[in-house]
Amino acid sequence: MVVPIKILLQSALDLLYPPHCESCQKPGRLLCRNCVRQLRRIRSPYCQVCSLPVSGRSSQKLICADCRLRNFHFQFAICGYEANDVMRRLIHRFKYHGISRLELLLSQLIFHAWRDRRATLQPPEILVPVPLHSRRERERGFNQSARLAKALSRRTGIPYGTLLKKSVFTESQTLLNRRQRRQNLRGAFTLRQNSLLTGLSVMLVDDVLTTGSTLEECSKTLLAGGARAVSAITLARA
Ligand SMILES: [Zn+2]
Ligand SMILES: [Zn+2]
Repeated sequence: MVVPIKILLQSALDLLYPPHCESCQKPGRLLCRNCVRQLRRIRSPYCQVCSLPVSGRSSQKLICADCRLRNFHFQFAICGYEANDVMRRLIHRFKYHGISRLELLLSQLIFHAWRDRRATLQPPEILVPVPLHSRRERERGFNQSARLAKALSRRTGIPYGTLLKKSVFTESQTLLNRRQRRQNLRGAFTLRQNSLLTGLSVMLVDDVLTTGSTLEECSKTLLAGGARAVSAITLARA
């Protein structure tokens, strides 16, 4: 049996640096039992558009006040987990430290999110990651959303395509409010050359949904480029 070099290297690294919980650093598993227990799946009732958990009775027609006002261009955004401390730490470690062991775990989690009736009823024809600006992607070495989209594509059999490009470099959105985020992102995304999406139903893939501004800008670009419909899936929701 030929053991891939990547696995050999990983085993050597495990000996040098024994695995520890990527959230709380406790030695042992990649995610300790205590941290697993703290992951919070977003469960019904939630807004059918933005997956915001809402109190009250479960209803398939529930749309939150914010979505009624904003009228997003995407049909719905499926979100897997609450972006609580554990989830934020995992995403942060994955994004800024490129921990490959985490990629597998987060891919499994976004696949859990995929098992949602909205995806079953309106399955997309292509999965498209939210792009990073090329400068940011060079700094980071990879695009976390592209990794998640690829993993989801492998598990669902739905093709994957990097149809979008971030053509304007924007500073981190973390400290901006909703209005500022929207302004900051206006016109920031364009279609890649030769992107053929006429009549296609597209699902955007991203790590976190915060205000929905990024997904909204990407959706507008895809629809203007000929997409028939746009939806989205994210690992977590802030
Ligand atoms: Zn832990
Ligand atoms: Zn909503």
